[in-house]
Amino acid sequence: MPRVLVVEDDPQLVRALKINLQARSYEVEAAGEGATALRIADVWRPDVVLVDLGLPDMDGVELIRTLRASSRVPVLVLSARHLSEEKVRALDAGADDYVTKPFSMDELLARLRAATRRRDPVRVESAVPTVVATDDLTIDLVAKKVRREERLVRLTPTEWHLLEILVSRPGHLVPRRTLLTEVWGPGHARNSNYLRVYMAQLRRKLERDPAHPRHIITEAGMGYRFEP
Ligand code: CA
Repeated sequence: MPRVLVVEDDPQLVRALKINLQARSYEVEAAGEGATALRIADVWRPDVVLVDLGLPDMDGVELIRTLRASSRVPVLVLSARHLSEEKVRALDAGADDYVTKPFSMDELLARLRAATRRRDPVRVESAVPTVVATDDLTIDLVAKKVRREERLVRLTPTEWHLLEILVSRPGHLVPRRTLLTEVWGPGHARNSNYLRVYMAQLRRKLERDPAHPRHIITEAGMGYRFEP
């Protein structure tokens, strides 16, 4: 049974999460404070951690950073904050994904499943995809070739680099800052306009309808996601 550690100080939400998660055969432990959460994480070794950003004793982002120092456990942020900077800080600190409160239980469960699938340390090694295929795209990460509806698509090295980062984490939000620093270097972390230009180019080459992209998705104010 997958173990979920819920770090949340709202007792009603904790109760609702427990009921729903246990009904789906998750084992659940809850902590209302960051310090307790760290102790439980250390001893109980959860498979995934849900972290509320507003905790009484500690900033949730600080908690994620501390967890990350010793563990690769998937972290899903529960955020009531609408400020995208908060979510970006959490993602930069090592969170894998986030849901904004109020959220539907179905959405949370879907993200929970995705987070545990992606970060299972045993499977990650063997499951690094070499070819990613969608109904219209075939992206070969080893040969560095992309085909759209069987036709080879020519990408510039920068376009390829961006696509490679997104595709190797399918369904996963990649923060703008990560893309900018990986492709252009740490001095360019704030040049979001580069991304807008290059993502538009990629969409023109890869999407059937670039105005309504199905694969290269913008998360407003946050980053980009590749949906297979
Ligand atoms: Ca809270």
